Amino acid sequence: MKVLVIGANGKIGSILMKKLHKTTHPPRGMYRELAQINRLPNQDMDTVVGDLESDFDHAFQGIDAVVFTAGSGGHTPAEKTDLIDRRGAKKAIDLAIKHNVKRFIMVSALGADRPSHEWPNSMAHYFAAKADADQHLRQSNLDYTILMPGMLNDDHGTNNVEMGEVISRKTGSITRTDVATVIQACLDHEGTYQKSLKMLNGDTPIPVALAELDAVTA
Ligand code: NAP
Repeated sequence: MKVLVIGANGKIGSILMKKLHKTTHPPRGMYRELAQINRLPNQDMDTVVGDLESDFDHAFQGIDAVVFTAGSGGHTPAEKTDLIDRRGAKKAIDLAIKHNVKRFIMVSALGADRPSHEWPNSMAHYFAAKADADQHLRQSNLDYTILMPGMLNDDHGTNNVEMGEVISRKTGSITRTDVATVIQACLDHEGTYQKSLKMLNGDTPIPVALAELDAVTA
């Protein structure tokens, strides 16, 4: 399965690129600028230049799965969030449909599926953009998984999560490495298809958490 990683220069994206390199699910990283590709330590990665704010149709040639882990960042104006997290994500979904790429993993955010009055004012535009993109994906005919991690950190991966369509906590954190591990494990794991999964670091090993999802599907 050839995997297009949108947001490959980002923190989760670059961890995922390394994890997928030379596996049976090799990645193609989409980078905003050629200079970012030229700086990569590993020059034998498959890469493509593509900007979510313009046309990136070409990135989808020969692709079997898409991971969307791009984002405008926490310190950009609301218009940028709208351009990247809402419109960019929806464009990526539409291009996956156009190119008949059935598998799509979206990195959303814990809280995006809550009623809007529960969103803190300062984050409302961010959650609204994520929620809109997630809804667009749910309404598609794609084999999607929407991952909704809590607050991200750069600690070492733990390989332990609390993950599911319903989880016990409303807030918490998770390492970016664990998010990337889950993305990799989800790629061809049909028990995660058509699911929106909240995820935090917890006590359950990732393979066990995924197997529990199979039980829910069966
Ligand atoms: P990150 O390091 O900020 O990476 C995001 C990537 O998106 C960057 O590499 C950026 O490219 C890319 N991007 C932005 N605009 C683009 C454009 N126009 N065209 C192409 N690429 C573009 O993010 P992260 O920390 O890995 O997080 C990944 C995802 O998790 C994001 O969707 C974020 O919203 C979500 N999330 C974050 C948190 C949190 O606590 N921060 C919690 C839950 C979910 P450049 O490198 O060129 O800028």
